[in-house]
Formats: sequence, structure tokens, C-alpha cells
Amino acid sequence: MELVEKIKKSQLLSHAKTFPRMHLGVIGALIVGLGLMSVIPTNQASVARDVTILELPVADAHADTNKTERDDVLTDKEIELKTITLTVKPNDNLSLLFKRAGMSDREMMNFLGAAEQPKRLHSMKPGHELHFHLNSENHIEKLTYVSSALASYSYINTDGKYLFSETLREPDIHNASRSGHIKSSLYSAGINAGMDEKLIMELAEIFGWDIDFALDMRSGDSFKILYEEHFLDGEKLGNGVILSAEFVNQGQRFQAVRYVHADGRAEYYTPDGKNMRKAFLRAPLDFRRISSNFNPRRLHPITKTVRPHRGIDYAARTGTPVWSSGDGRVIASGYTKANGNYVVIQHGNNVQTKYLHLHKRKVKRGQKVRQKQIIGTVGSTGFSTGPHLHYEFLLNGVHRNPRTIVQKLPKAESISPELKSDFLNQTQILLAELERETNTPALALKERFPSASAL
Ligand SMILES: [Zn+2]
Repeated sequence: MELVEKIKKSQLLSHAKTFPRMHLGVIGALIVGLGLMSVIPTNQASVARDVTILELPVADAHADTNKTERDDVLTDKEIELKTITLTVKPNDNLSLLFKRAGMSDREMMNFLGAAEQPKRLHSMKPGHELHFHLNSENHIEKLTYVSSALASYSYINTDGKYLFSETLREPDIHNASRSGHIKSSLYSAGINAGMDEKLIMELAEIFGWDIDFALDMRSGDSFKILYEEHFLDGEKLGNGVILSAEFVNQGQRFQAVRYVHADGRAEYYTPDGKNMRKAFLRAPLDFRRISSNFNPRRLHPITKTVRPHRGIDYAARTGTPVWSSGDGRVIASGYTKANGNYVVIQHGNNVQTKYLHLHKRKVKRGQKVRQKQIIGTVGSTGFSTGPHLHYEFLLNGVHRNPRTIVQKLPKAESISPELKSDFLNQTQILLAELERETNTPALALKERFPSASAL
């Protein structure tokens, strides 16, 4: 069950970010605007119509008498139904979907009124499917909501009520491995190795505390990962979590392994049990959004003088989110002629981080912030020639190199001595498997990434 939940969550996440959630609550408003709705065009082309025989689980007193002829004759409980399959589109709602299936709002309200657990339909997202099974009078005999290959929910007409049932399946899980060498970027190396974007991002997140994927990457760097692949009836559904991973950056080898705590919480640790997470981010913005060909300018572009450069400049598009590097409190959020829009955050007693030239500030002075919370966006305000983030790290009032100092600061909680033997039991096998494995056959990956070789 837990696994099913997880997969659903990860599949839904990508939708949740880009599309508004649907709510049954909007239906009321839509019904009021019914006159308007009839002029909204619906896409009939996306409606697949075909006829199927559906067996309905209705108790039938006459069933026994027909038993011998079951194969040849339709009984009362086997009704010829018309099936309409609809795929949920962005900005769809139940009212629009029912309309596409040829149902009126009244019919939809009747259905919802007679259905057990109608709220399950709240979780509908673009890409999910609705299957309407209609009788010859266009009345719903069964409605099935398919949210993934692993989960579907049915409402079956039973004496005027729609009884609810759910079908949840568990995938088969197999471990797989991939490895690659960096030529231009982690992204293209990952794609070439047959990884999908989600897996590449997870790899970057695991090592993002130690390696700055925007500035530290070198040709010849390499990686390998051991991860889960999920299958259903022999067909690949998608990738699961990374179990263990290794990254060699500029000759330095980093290893990480996933450990699941007794309470189900999973974290990545070094092979000897140190937490991979650190108190401060390596870079306070998404490495994929940093321009790779940026050269920090030592000669100040406006005053034309060489100034000591006490921070790091990350070039990125205006509007790119800037994160707080660690937990802390905003001690300044303002504007000066030189800094432009800027934010200063105090972390504990001895660390301050500064973020300059912001396009917009998203925090106020005195506000508490969490690590990776968005505090503003990249801009070019103040003495700046182009959109970039100027980032400073001060330890006990002294400027330090933000990219190297984080290594020397405390890490998140490591494995306690009491957990050590359980930790080793669980993780050594994963590290050994990573060591042993070369790339497993690419299975369906060629199909999924047809352009991989072109990158
Ligand atoms: Zn700067």
C-alpha cells in the first residue's frame, strides 16, 4: 500500500505543479452558468466510442436456470453497454467531462447524489481517464475512474445506487543500474545513460550538497546508480527510488546509500552513516537554470575598477527562484543603489548569507525561513550588467567561499551508534550491488528516449 501511495504521488506531482486541481465545488457555479456552457465547444475528437459487454455483479434469482447456456445467451445481468473513454485535460472539470460523454448536468448531479464516495473523483488530474458505461437509454451503469495503471475506482449501478469499489495493484520491483561519463553536462550524460529526467534530478539532489552541478562539473566526471524499476504484467511503469549512487567529481569520489528508518522515513547517507544533507545549500538556486558560460567579472562593470569579489555570481534568467541556503531569519530585506533588491539571512549565531541584485524580494525583515524556501527571484537591480545572483556567505562576520565552506559546517543528523548495525545490514548489500553492476539491458528505454543518441 505504501508503495502504491508513493508511486501515485510521484506520478501526480508533475501534474500538480502545472495544472490547477479540480474541485467538485466548482460544479455548482458551472450549473448556474449553464447557458454559457452550451456555447463552450467540446472536443469530440478525443472521445473514443465503442461497444463492450460488461458483466455486472448484480444478484440474480434466475441465474441458475440459465447457467448451462451462459456462453450463448445474454442473461439479465449482462447488458450490452456503450463505453465512452475520456482523458482528463488541463482545466477540465466533472461538468465538462460529463458533457463530453453526452450527459447533462442534471444527469451528473443525479449520479453524484446516488454515488458512494463521490469525493474520490476530486483527485482527478490531467491524463487520468474516465470510462462511462451507458445502457441503451444513455443511463450510467458503471463509471470507472482510472488514475494510474495501479489504481482504478468504479461506481456500479445497483438498484439505483452507485456502489463504490477500488482496484489497487502493486508493481513488481527490480533493481537496475546505470552509469555514465560527463562530457558536457550531467543532464546529457544521464540521458545518454538511459536515465529519465526525474532520475537525473534525484541524483543531482543526493549529491547537490557536496557537488555544485553548475560550476564544479568537469569533463571526465562519472557516476553510477542503483535504482528501482517498477513493472506491471511485464510492462515497465516507471522508475522508483535511487538505492545507492556514486559520483566521481574532479577525481574525488562521493558515495551515497538510501536507508529507511523504522518509521518509514528514508534518507541518504555516506557508507559510514553520515547524512548527505547539510546545514547549507551548495548553491541557492536550481543548477539547471544557471548559465554555464558565465564568467564572474573581477573588473567592476560600472565603476570600471577592480574590486575584491567577496561572493559568487550565478547568472540565470530574470525571475529564476532564489532559495534560502539554510534555515534562519531574515534580518534585512531592502533596496540600495549598489545592491539593488537584496536579502540578508541570519542562520544561528555565526552565519549570515546575502543575496543581491534580486528582481523581486519574497520575504520581509524578521520573517523565519526554511532551507530552500524561495526568498526572491534573480534580477539585475543595482550595480549589475545582467541578470545574476550575487551570493555571499559570512562566518563570524568574515566572508568565506560559499562553495567550499559548506563542507566544513555541521551536517544533518547522522546514523546514531544504536542504529549502526541495522544501517550496515540494510545498506552494505546496496553498495555491493552498485559496485558489481554494470549497465543492465536498456529494456524499453530506447523507446522512451528515442533521441538519446542524438544528445
Ligand atoms: Zn558579484
